[in-house]
Amino acid sequence: MEVPNRMYIEGEWVTSTDGATMPIIDPATEEQVDTVPRATAEDLDRALEAAERGWRVWRETDAWTRSNTLRRVGALIRERAEAIAPVITEEQGKPLGEARGEIMAAADQFDWNADEARRIYGRSLESHSRSERLMVIHQPIGPVAAFSPGNFPVLLPARKIAPALAAGCSIIVKPAEETVRSCLYLAQACHDAGVPAGVMNVVTGEPAQISTHLIRSPVIRKVSLTGSLAVGKELMRLCAEELKPVAMELGGHSPVLVFEDADLEFAAETAARAKFRNNGQVCIAASRFYVQQSIAEPFLKRFVDVTQSLRVGNGRDPDTDVGPLCSRRRLEATEALVRDAVDKGASLRTGGGRPRELRKGFYYLPTVLSDVSAEMRILQEEPFAPIAPIATFNDLEDGIEKANASNYGLAAYIFTRDTATLFRASEGLEAGMVGVNNMVIASAEMPFGGIKQSGFGREGGAEGVKGYTVTKYINVRL
Ligand code: NAD
Repeated sequence: MEVPNRMYIEGEWVTSTDGATMPIIDPATEEQVDTVPRATAEDLDRALEAAERGWRVWRETDAWTRSNTLRRVGALIRERAEAIAPVITEEQGKPLGEARGEIMAAADQFDWNADEARRIYGRSLESHSRSERLMVIHQPIGPVAAFSPGNFPVLLPARKIAPALAAGCSIIVKPAEETVRSCLYLAQACHDAGVPAGVMNVVTGEPAQISTHLIRSPVIRKVSLTGSLAVGKELMRLCAEELKPVAMELGGHSPVLVFEDADLEFAAETAARAKFRNNGQVCIAASRFYVQQSIAEPFLKRFVDVTQSLRVGNGRDPDTDVGPLCSRRRLEATEALVRDAVDKGASLRTGGGRPRELRKGFYYLPTVLSDVSAEMRILQEEPFAPIAPIATFNDLEDGIEKANASNYGLAAYIFTRDTATLFRASEGLEAGMVGVNNMVIASAEMPFGGIKQSGFGREGGAEGVKGYTVTKYINVRL
């Protein structure tokens, strides 16, 4: 199967009208491995016209047909996992095993939303009058513009495409510039599963140009972004001018509270492995660890041991636990965050630089810092990097206060064996999602999303598909 590297508009694979391209770089070797088109205004207009036409067809397609089509998309993605995984690794850097896991999670999105397509329930109500009949129905909102980041290049666009199509919308996706081809496999699966032309489209190119062009068009009825806070604010400004509804899945700064009654060995092992998954480039990755004073030293020691056991290398090597960062920009940001913390008095427990034996590639060693304090950038900004800052807390109240001292509110984690602590902490933490003795919490059947500056709207669960519908009230006088 050929690696898809063109845009997908109205059921066709196209280059840009002026032939312009952008490079795809392998972060493990820093070499260019491919190119993808850079869309022109004309290409974007074509995608908009396609999405408008596609929506007219798809909204008239019955829910059972939409459901069956989505299930076929999920099946094709699973069947093609072995072809897709190396492409994710090549352009994003994550180990092959993680890439395979991501593909299965993307297929789950289609399976889950195939069911949701048939469960977009309306309701009928009793009126004041016997000569009136009252109904509420939920209809597709219309063509969607979706923007997704590069850290999960297949899963994150799937989280938008599957519910949008389940609801009867069409969609134009703009994937992250570094990881376009991984996302194009979703277009290929939709095409082969029989999604009609124009319902699903992928355009690639310069982000600000594409977002401005699409959001300003009257064709687009809804915008959905997964990305950083800075880009979120930018897209919200554009949507405000056009008064368009928008869903925002933004960054996080997720805290972990480890209570003294926790299983220390399990907590340290689980937390360290979860922290460095995808090199810390996970929106719900733990970014701050608070350990109850009495167990702080043994926790730190075990956490460092596990961190040092992780093998850094090319994601294609089956022994690799941690691949390169996805871009030079990320590598430089990581170096700057560690420098800032160390300059302000943090102790470097392990890592803190590039691995000596890997001369090429955007590699950075998994890093653990202690003696961290609130003025360090690492405790304020979303790191999106393989850096674990570890601090302490005294009691439940102190722990919750420290955990909530952030503008973000995406995920939070607790390690405890005490039932009262479990409930008090999970209810007190300001986050859209809480994991208790578990840090792998994302799944298609649960609503994913944040509060505060982590955004609004939910993807997955029963909530996901609702984001792509509008409510209509119908009053019938007999
Ligand atoms: P980013 O914000 O730089 O990019 C995200 C998307 O926005 C990409 O498609 C990018 O091309 C596009 N973009 C960039 N500049 C733009 C502009 N001016 N106008 C329009 N679009 C623009 O994010 P990134 O560095 O690729 O990814 C990391 C961020 O995504 C982190 O903040 C992370 O927490 C967040 N994220 C959130 C979730 C979630 O579900 N909440 C999931 C994964 C990642």
